[in-house]
Amino acid sequence: STMSSFDEYIRHWAAIKPDAVALEEGDERATFAELDRRTAQVVALYRQLGVSPGDRIAWLGKNSKLYFELFYAAGRYGAVMVPIGWRLAAPEVAYILADTGAKVLFTGAGLGEAAEKACAELADPPKLLGCDRVRAAIDAADPADFTPVAPDEAVLQLYTSGTTGNPKGAVLSNRNLFALRQPGERAGLDWAVWEEDEAILIAMPCAHIGGTGLGVMAMGGGARAIVQSEFTPEGVLEAFEQGATRMFIVPAALQMVVQHPRAKTTDFSAVKYVFYGAAPIPLDLLREAVRTIPNAGFVQCYGMTETTGTVAVLPPGDHDLAGNERMRSAGHAVPGTQLKIVGEDGAELPRGQVGELAVKSPSNMLGYWNLPQATREALQDGWMHTGDAAYMDEDGYVFIQDRIKDMIISGGENVYPAQVESAIYGHPAVAEVAVIGVPDDHWGEAVKACVVAKPGEEIDPEAIIAWTRERLAGFKVPKSIKVIAALPRNQSGKILRRELRAPYWEGRE
Ligand code: ATP
Ligand code: MG
Repeated sequence: STMSSFDEYIRHWAAIKPDAVALEEGDERATFAELDRRTAQVVALYRQLGVSPGDRIAWLGKNSKLYFELFYAAGRYGAVMVPIGWRLAAPEVAYILADTGAKVLFTGAGLGEAAEKACAELADPPKLLGCDRVRAAIDAADPADFTPVAPDEAVLQLYTSGTTGNPKGAVLSNRNLFALRQPGERAGLDWAVWEEDEAILIAMPCAHIGGTGLGVMAMGGGARAIVQSEFTPEGVLEAFEQGATRMFIVPAALQMVVQHPRAKTTDFSAVKYVFYGAAPIPLDLLREAVRTIPNAGFVQCYGMTETTGTVAVLPPGDHDLAGNERMRSAGHAVPGTQLKIVGEDGAELPRGQVGELAVKSPSNMLGYWNLPQATREALQDGWMHTGDAAYMDEDGYVFIQDRIKDMIISGGENVYPAQVESAIYGHPAVAEVAVIGVPDDHWGEAVKACVVAKPGEEIDPEAIIAWTRERLAGFKVPKSIKVIAALPRNQSGKILRRELRAPYWEGRE
């Protein structure tokens, strides 16, 4: 298929399977024919609101059918949708609104007050529209007659997760969105083939590529998108029993699903693929997940907001429980993309050497919004420089070590926190762990593990250190352990190591 835009896909599916369900949230449904008409009504609403192609519009809310209708309509018309994480604090929301200069802010159920609070901080706030009023206005509008936006124009401005600093607005076009999500037979990608009646569960937040990108995927495959307002392990288990065939999930959420008491009695037989990624996954957790849902094909996804999500995949066949080293890999480039590992001078490194992972893909963003310098540094000759340390084996499989910014240099040796975390995670008393570098007179930086105990378990720091010493080289073993109640995480489930690090580097501990 050569289609590359929302407009083409929506019209295509509306012609081919008009009565199939495209979007579903609880009892609410829209068929492809309804979606075709409804997104044209949304375009009419955009015009009433004075929104022209190229203007930013924002959504502050949980996942909802309404959000996807607004986003798909923006994708046809050329308004630029900016979904904002509903868990963000008012100043963080205000930061994004000010950065985008959004004309209108649509709010989801229960988020009106949060939106007002954020807007109160702005000199030039957007027009605020609550979801009930928006639905009524869409219902009342006549479908617009409009020229679809050109495929290389911006339609989505997705902010990075803000794991390493302020979030940056990655500007994406229809072509970026659909480049790697075209369905059909493709070498080695069994999951690019969608069968009739497939349903994809959207439980990850729409402000993240793992949520919004799934709507694009469903549209590409002509599949039913099951929208859940927010992630709960119970919701995922129920959706699987009710026929969801695929989902994307981050490791922290996958852990809650597989360790949920009800996972043992859940019927997973309908599940075809579990896509997981967005953060390093401990090997023991991955094994447990594969054992819990044995009939599903597990696919690890590596990617970033700037590459419109997944650019490398570890296919189901590489998930073998016999201890295959490959299971530690984030996989190989998906067809249509290229990966390379570069040194500090930008030259490609030989296989097996750790350097920065760079990606060339038609899904690479147009650029960061309002950050020309950061854009130039990130995108060089069409290669996106990921900021991730990785090496590549002879077969092109990449092994992500960690973020370059999070690397600990202890006694001149490089320590990647993710590897240490993965080892400690296997200890029976440990629920969660984050590893950071703290200032140390002798070592420069010393490895420190912040550990959360499993319910009913006690953490013995000496036992954790001894456990790690049996599994890793001495310089990677934590010099100290801190027991904490919970790890700070952002909305995409990533550990905010900078928050754990800060007190040590600011001299507060
Ligand atoms: P910010 O850029 O604002 O600091 P972020 O990088 O967490 O936040 P995202 O774009 O959501 O924002 O995440 C991309 C990053 O997630 C990648 O650069 C990588 O560090 C990590 N990542 C994604 N997939 C994987 C994976 N499969 N294994 C390990 N890490 C992954
Ligand atoms: Mg990033």
